[in-house]
Order: sequence, then C-alpha cells, then structure tokens
Amino acid sequence: MDDPATLPLTPVAHNREPKPDPGRPGALTLAQLGWRLLAGGVVLFALLIGLWLWTSWISVRHANAQRSLLTASLLAVNAETIFQRVQDDLMHLGDTLGETARDHPEQAVALLKTFQARHAWLGGASVWAPDGELLAGTLMRSQGAQPNVLRDTLYASYREDFQLALRTRGISVGRPQEGRLLGQWFIPLRYVVRAADGRPLYVLQTSILLNRQQELWRGLPLKAGTAVGLLRTDGWLISRYPDTIANPQIYRARARGALMDALAASGNASSGFYFGKTVDGQQRDGAWARLGSLPVVAFLSLPHSEVVAEWWRQVRGPLLGLCTVLVVLLVAWITLIRGFVTRMVGLRKQMNHRRAEELSSSGVAEIDALLRQLVRSREQIRHLARNRERALLEAAQAGTYTRTAHDGVLVAVDASFARMLGRPARRLIGREWDELFNTAGGVPIGEAKALDSGRRLVWTRGPNGETIWLSLAEHAEITREGHKILHGLAIDVSERENLLRAVERQSQRLHTLWQMAAGSGTGDHDGGDSIERMLAQGRDALGLQAAIICLRLGDDCFMAYAQDIHGRFEQGQTLAPNHPLCACENHENGALWIADASRHPGLAEAAGIGCVIRLPLTLSHQTMGCLLLLGDVPQGDDFDPVDRQYAELLAAWFARVLHDRSQRDTLLSQAYTDGLTGLLNRRAAQLRMDEALQQMRRGGPSFSVALCDLDHFKQVNDEYGHAAGDSVLRQMASTLRQGVPRNGWVARWGGEEFLIMMPGFDTATAAAAMDVLRQRVSQRAFLVSERSLHITLSIGIGTLQGPQDEIVRVLTEADDSLYEAKGQGRNRVIAMR
Ligand code: GH3
Ligand code: MG
Ligand code: MG
Repeated sequence: MDDPATLPLTPVAHNREPKPDPGRPGALTLAQLGWRLLAGGVVLFALLIGLWLWTSWISVRHANAQRSLLTASLLAVNAETIFQRVQDDLMHLGDTLGETARDHPEQAVALLKTFQARHAWLGGASVWAPDGELLAGTLMRSQGAQPNVLRDTLYASYREDFQLALRTRGISVGRPQEGRLLGQWFIPLRYVVRAADGRPLYVLQTSILLNRQQELWRGLPLKAGTAVGLLRTDGWLISRYPDTIANPQIYRARARGALMDALAASGNASSGFYFGKTVDGQQRDGAWARLGSLPVVAFLSLPHSEVVAEWWRQVRGPLLGLCTVLVVLLVAWITLIRGFVTRMVGLRKQMNHRRAEELSSSGVAEIDALLRQLVRSREQIRHLARNRERALLEAAQAGTYTRTAHDGVLVAVDASFARMLGRPARRLIGREWDELFNTAGGVPIGEAKALDSGRRLVWTRGPNGETIWLSLAEHAEITREGHKILHGLAIDVSERENLLRAVERQSQRLHTLWQMAAGSGTGDHDGGDSIERMLAQGRDALGLQAAIICLRLGDDCFMAYAQDIHGRFEQGQTLAPNHPLCACENHENGALWIADASRHPGLAEAAGIGCVIRLPLTLSHQTMGCLLLLGDVPQGDDFDPVDRQYAELLAAWFARVLHDRSQRDTLLSQAYTDGLTGLLNRRAAQLRMDEALQQMRRGGPSFSVALCDLDHFKQVNDEYGHAAGDSVLRQMASTLRQGVPRNGWVARWGGEEFLIMMPGFDTATAAAAMDVLRQRVSQRAFLVSERSLHITLSIGIGTLQGPQDEIVRVLTEADDSLYEAKGQGRNRVIAMR
C-alpha cells in the first residue's frame, strides 16, 4: 500500500488549540472590510470637501474680479468726464486769451485769475510759450526773468510732460508734481492752443490738487485695503488712493508690477484683470479699465489676503459643520465595527473551543464514540427542528453524504462534506466512491485496537495535492423502490492522521539512522541486499516513491540499484544522456532539490514525477554517481529541512558504502589475479573448479581440464634472461586465452604451467580442442629480444567422472597425462582414458 502521507515533519509536541483558518471568511476579514469601507468613505468625503472648497474659492475670486472691473470702469468714466471738462474750459480760456498773452501779460494774468476764481477746485492757471518760457500765470513772479520749463534745471521734471503736451492734440495729463510755489502735490493738465496751420501758439496749464482729486474717491464704499487709482499707460502713476503724498516714491519712477504686465499683454483691450505684486509690493487681485480719449487707465485692486479672508469667511461655517458630521459618523462607524468584531471573535472562540473539545479529545476512540452517538441519534435528530440539526452537525464539524450501496455513486453531499474535500458539491455528486477515495488499510497507525468494524478511514488528495483523511460512519437504508443506500457522516481527521504518519516516518528515519550508525547496514557479506534495503527504507522514511542509485557509465546513467514502488525504474536500466533525470544528473555535479517538478520543464511530463532530490555520491573528492529520490506529489515550495538533512545523511552513507565496496572489489580481484599474465591465479582456479563441481552436482554440465606445460622453458630463461622468459609467458597467456573454448577459462597454475577449464567437454572433445590449441601455439612465433622463438606445449587432460568424483582426482589425472606427454617426447596432448 502506498503511503500517501506527504506532510512535512512537524514537531510531535503540538498545541491542541485549533489554529484559526485564514482561508475561510471569518470575523476578522469582515472587520477588515469594515475598516476598508471606512477608509474609502473618509477619502471620498475629503475629496468632495476639497472639490467644494476649490469651487467656492474660484467663485469668490471671480465675483471679486467682476466687482473690481465694474468699479474700475466707473472710475474711468468719472475721471474722463473731469478731464474732459477741464479740457473744455481750457479751450474756452484759449479763445478768450487770443493773442494777448505775449503782448499784454497783465491782461492775460487778469483773465487767468478770473478762470481760477471760477474753478475753485483747480490749482493755479498759466500760459507758456512753446519755447518753454512762462508768459503769464496766477502764481507768477512779479519781477525779473520768468522761468523757462525747457531750460531751467529747476523744472527738469516738467520737461518731458511739457514736450509731450506739445505733441498732443487735446488735453494731456502730466505726472504729479510737488508744486514749488503751491507747496502741494498736484496733477498738471495742459492744453495747447494752435494756429490754423497746427503750429503751437501757447501752452495753457492748470492743475488738480492731488488730495482734492483723491477726495473724490474717499467717499466711495470701498473694502478695507482697496487701492484705486489712475495710471498713464506709459507707466507714470497719476494718482493712487489711499496712498498719499506721504509716500511720494511711487510717483517718482515709472510703475512696475502686475498691472503694467497685464497692460502690456492686453493689446487693445479696454479692460482686464491683474493678479500679483503691485507698486506697493503687495500681492493683489485687481481690474483695470481704459479712459476712452486719454492714454490713462483707472484701476482697482484688493490685497490677495483679503480675497482669501473673504473666501474663508464664506466657507468656514459649512466646513465646520461638515467636519462635525464626519467625526460623528466616524465615531459611530468605529463603535459599530468594534462591537461587530468583538461579537464575531467571541462567536469564533466559542466555535473553536467546542471544536477543540471534540477533536482534540486525544484519540480516535472519542471521535468514534461521538460518531456512533451521532449516528444512533440520527433518527431522533431528524425529528428535531431543522436548524437544531444543522447546528449539531456544524458543532461536530461533520459532513454528511449519501451513496448507493452496490456501485458507490454519491447521490447527495452537504456543504461541509464538500468543503472538507475542497471541491464544489456538484463536482462530487455522481462520482464513484472508489474513484474518489482510497481505503487506508482499514485503520490508522497505532490505533487498531480502539476501532470497531463499523468505522472506516479513507483518504484522498485535496486540490493542492495534500492528503485529506476522513473518518466515516455509515448506516444503510432501503428505499421504497427497494434500493439499498448508505447514509454517512464524515469527520476530517487529516491533522491527526497526517501527524501520526509523520511520527511513523520519523521513527522509521530513526531506525535507518540507527542502522547506519550501528554499521549493520554496511553489508560486507550480503552483496547489494543491504543497499537495496536501505534504499527502500530511506524512500519510505521520506514518504517518496522511488530511490535510485545511479552510477556513471560513459555518458549514460546506469541504475546500479533501484527501489521504485511503481516499477518504472529497475536495476540495470540505463537512461540515455538526454533523459530529463539523467540530463539533470549531467547538468551539474551538485545537489538538486526540486520540490515541485511541474515547474521544472521536461521533468513532470517525462515520468509523472512530482518532486526530485538528486544528491551526488561523493567521498574523498571522488563522485561515483548520484542518489535520486523521486516523489509523486509536489512538496510545496520547498522540502522540509528535516527531510533535506535526512536525505543528505542517506547520500553520505551510500557514498561510503559504495566506496568501501569498490575498494573491496579491487582487493578481491587482486587476490585472484596473476600479476604477470593477468590470468586467474591458482587460488581462483581452485575456487572456480569447486564452484563448477557444485553446479554439476546441482544439474549443471560436467567438464574437463587441461594442464599445459611449456617445453624446455628453462632454456629460454638461460639463453635470453628471465625478463625474456616473462615476456614469453605473457604472450603465451594471451594465445591460450584466445584458444579457450566457450564458457571456459584459463588460469596460471604455476611457473610455466597453465590450466584450462572446458565445461561441457568430455575427454575426447577436450583432447581434440587442446590439440588444435597446441598446434596453434607451435606455429606462432614468440618475440624475444628482437628474435622470434618457437615454443611448444605438452598438455594433459583430466575429466570429471560424475557427481561423486573429486577435483583432486581430476587434477591428478591431468598431471599424470602431462607427465606422460613429456615422457613421449613433448609437444603433444595426452588423455589417459
Ligand atoms: P620441461 O618442462 O620440458 O621438462 O623443461 P623445462 O625447462 O620447462 O623444465 P622445468 O619445468 O623443470 O623448468 C621450469 C622452469 O621455468 C624453471 C624456471 O626457471 C622457469 N620459470 C618458472 N616460473 C617462471 C617465471 O615466472 N618466469 C620465468 N622467466 N621463468 C620461470
Ligand atoms: Mg614445468
Ligand atoms: Mg616445462
């Protein structure tokens, strides 16, 4: 019976507490699912909140920008109206002044003063010649040379704007200036009166006091931090509120920053937005709008931080609410999962405890008692409520099945039975019992006495090749149609059975190891038997199916010893060099461990092999071959370390035994060989003759022997030397070996005497055969010291005379015949009978 147990060795002292089975869905898996759901929910929630925050930010920013743009457009219209009014008034003043300004300055001054009185919100008014000289003004010096804008260094900052005014038709708006005479900051406004041909006649100039202009904006309902202003498109700031003259730097250089960048990029657009650092060094979000007729824009901006603050004011309330909801939900969810997990773990512990109590009750007897009890009470159980029955069966971890009695076809199985076998129920129903299960020799190891005949133990292979042991109890029922069916209860006892088998293997191992250690396995006298026996023991102890010792024979793998349960491999068989097992032998000299041959191309298909161990048989750096251990079933990811150690011990032992044996064979052959000629020596010849006699007595053939003596050999020695004599003896040996009849042999009997054995030959046929040989010897030339010699033989024949005859007598007969041959003149064959 094949031992199906393939469990790796586990320590015998084991914990009886059943381990939780991670393969089955349990409370912890559900808990993990709960946590994952929770994490998913939190992530989703955070994403949604993020999306909402982002969209609300965009909308706040957009609304602010739109408001800024609207206000900037209004400011632009407003400023333009003012500048337009000033322009109209200056045009009118120009008409009134006529040509008087140059010729009648007093008159002009009077006109200018009237103009100023009418426009109280403007600064002083003045008239300038195109060459830059002041002609008349409300704030004019009374005496001395009048200032010249284009020449006087004092007016250097006016010069550029003055020249710009000369080039401009209509009013031109100058940069703010700190008025020397006025003592205040003002915005100069200039208008050029021209002749009919377009030539400039006068430049009329007035100004708006900066703080007056800014007062217009002071009343606007603007948010804190808002900046409004006017900017010439060439970069000169005209006015910026709330910046006052307290910060004159911003008026003294061209403006740079986000607004200028936006204007530069805007092309001809009439309005736009800008974001970034502005003239005051702050990050701002703003909008601008062009004045229709002047190269000036009005702008309005808010600090970016203010926009962010506004957004935050909008979102913080709802955000706080949402977070509160999230925390409440989290707490509720965690509490729920905790409760659920605690309940499930409790339930599981309860189940495990019950299972442990029933399964770990130390032996089959208890399980059996439980089974018998279950079977006996089956009828009563039937009457109990359905769920009660299920609960009981589940508590016993038992599966039920029904099969036909005569052909053993499964007709029904329940879920736990299917689960035990690791296959769906539909794959089991309709299949034959014997095809599914192997009977385990009736009883498990070591428990025979505790069992009664009603119980059966069977095993099968699980989906992963593991051995599943079931303990069964069956009872028969005759159906209404008269068929006999069997109802069975099954309990999975794999853990216990596999353990028992592992223990059995362990003890087998110890046994072989003890044998090795004690040296009783070295088998000095029993030929290959001890090796065969140890091979089989080692194979069984490892739970494998074949153990082979391969020796090298050229390129081939010669199986010197083989123990294969399936009979696939036999002693004496050779594997071609390309056979996968042999190929892997040749592949490398080291050990090879293939726990799963199906992953090793070529191996599994070749011989239906599940796993392979190949260990070199090496002693004193000499590799004789290898030990091959083959199993039908894969061993999972790797071999058990204990199995590995054991296999290595086996290999070491075999290496030593084979080494000893080969040394002994060498010694033996030396003891039975003649050193000079390589023929059998006299001792070997005697043993063989005894053997032949024994065989004859057991019904084997009779035989004759011939004693051959070289004629006058002493002369060869004397004439050519002892070495030459030796050479002649060697040549003679070779000639005789070739002339020996079939199944016979030749030995050096002594000195220059040879004995030839002729099985199946009687006296006459032996004499005839020897005469042929004698002639051949006499005709051949023996080479000695570059000379050729002719040597002859005298031969005496002796023949065995029936089973009662003795070797000594046969030899005496041959010796006598030889003596006779010498006496008759040598070079002849004599048979006395
Ligand atoms: P015959 O047998 O014909 O009577 O003459 P024979 O010269 O052969 O006489 P015998 O048998 O008495 O002498 C045997 C000689 O063979 C004696 C010995 O010197 C020689 N001999 C024996 N063994 C060896 C050997 O191993 N090597 C050599 N070279 N000579 C050997
Ligand atoms: Mg002799
Ligand atoms: Mg002789």
